[in-house]
Amino acid sequence: MKEKFKSMETAVVHAGYDAKDHLGSLTTPIFQTSTFTFDSAEQGEKRFAGEEEGYIYSRLGNPTVRALEERIAELEEAEAGLAFGSGMAAVSAILMSITKSGDHILCSQGIYGCTFGLLQLMKEKYYITHDFNALETEEEIEKQIRPETACIYVETPINPTMKLIDLELVAKVAKKHGILVVVDNTFSSPYLQQPLKAGCDIVLHSATKYIGGHGDVIAGLAAGKKERIHSIAMTTLKDVGGVISPFDAWLLLRGMKTLPVRMDRHCENAVYIVEQLEKHPAVKSVFYPGDEAGGDYAIMQKQMRKGGGLISFEINGSKQQAQKLLNDLSLIKIAVSLGDAETLIQHPATMTHSGIPEQTRNKMGISDKLIRLSVGLEAKEDIWEDLKQALDQV
Ligand SMILES: *Cc1c(COP(=O)(O)O)cnc(C)c1O
Repeated sequence: MKEKFKSMETAVVHAGYDAKDHLGSLTTPIFQTSTFTFDSAEQGEKRFAGEEEGYIYSRLGNPTVRALEERIAELEEAEAGLAFGSGMAAVSAILMSITKSGDHILCSQGIYGCTFGLLQLMKEKYYITHDFNALETEEEIEKQIRPETACIYVETPINPTMKLIDLELVAKVAKKHGILVVVDNTFSSPYLQQPLKAGCDIVLHSATKYIGGHGDVIAGLAAGKKERIHSIAMTTLKDVGGVISPFDAWLLLRGMKTLPVRMDRHCENAVYIVEQLEKHPAVKSVFYPGDEAGGDYAIMQKQMRKGGGLISFEINGSKQQAQKLLNDLSLIKIAVSLGDAETLIQHPATMTHSGIPEQTRNKMGISDKLIRLSVGLEAKEDIWEDLKQALDQV
């Protein structure tokens, strides 16, 4: 990477782009083209042979997309970055690239619903098995690593229980066994957490969430060592084809500029809502990484800048009462997804995690009483006023 910015606040605005390269255009131009013309047949030959730098076809690379890839690499302090058409395109391209038939994937206890679906598919079709378990101590991780374990795949905070995983610990054990650690960093964004700095190998994002930040794009990003990212780009991205469009890449470049500003506000609002929730009699328990009384506060302080914008809480009530609570809201919108300007609420057991068998779901800590809130950028008092009047009715 050619650039090196002292602070993330500056990198989100400038990394990956120089107006001098583009007629002085302040913002990155959208190269809305499928293909690139060659000056000569010989130039085409050289580009395909990798002997000359330059674009060929937008599934293999595009200047707007490249700017985005350089920016995410900078933010994750990685050698290289890669963009995808969705978070799941990133997850699938990475996992397909680093595993082969017969391998085993060790996962954190509780992962994104569609990642769970993908692992199921990989097991049934390609004999790539997986396990979900707590990864809290060195011994606990050690005893779950098998000779055929290819990687440890973690989300932290875990969706939707908000439990944390000690990334430095997982990376240390994995290194000892020569296996890779892949981290889904969607919930934190690079502003709050940089897994590669903790020794992990590949970081990925559903950029649909905090990185885009405005609920108007589906996209994925990844970052890691140059050789590995290049290998994914030239196999499971290029040949499976989950590429991002130049326009969507532009939306992400635009959204990223305000990432630190937005994240600070998301976190500030979330802390306030947690304080209020903890005092409300209809609330049984609150799960938030930034909660000093919570069990993971020490890990939060070690690897996260702040506690994030997501809160989960259990109500003193049934599934029907949880659903009624959602129906009684007006400012807060009932929707899956997260990280948008709007405060969003959802019921994991019947929505994002409904595809997971009930027994497994309960093991993961996802009861019918559990509600997940993605705290938006509205005035925190307005968010609480809406939530409070609904909780008062439970
Ligand atoms: C949304 C999400 C994904 C999937 O991303 P898409 O952009 O919807 O494909 C993966 N992991 C986590 C943690 C997510 O929240």
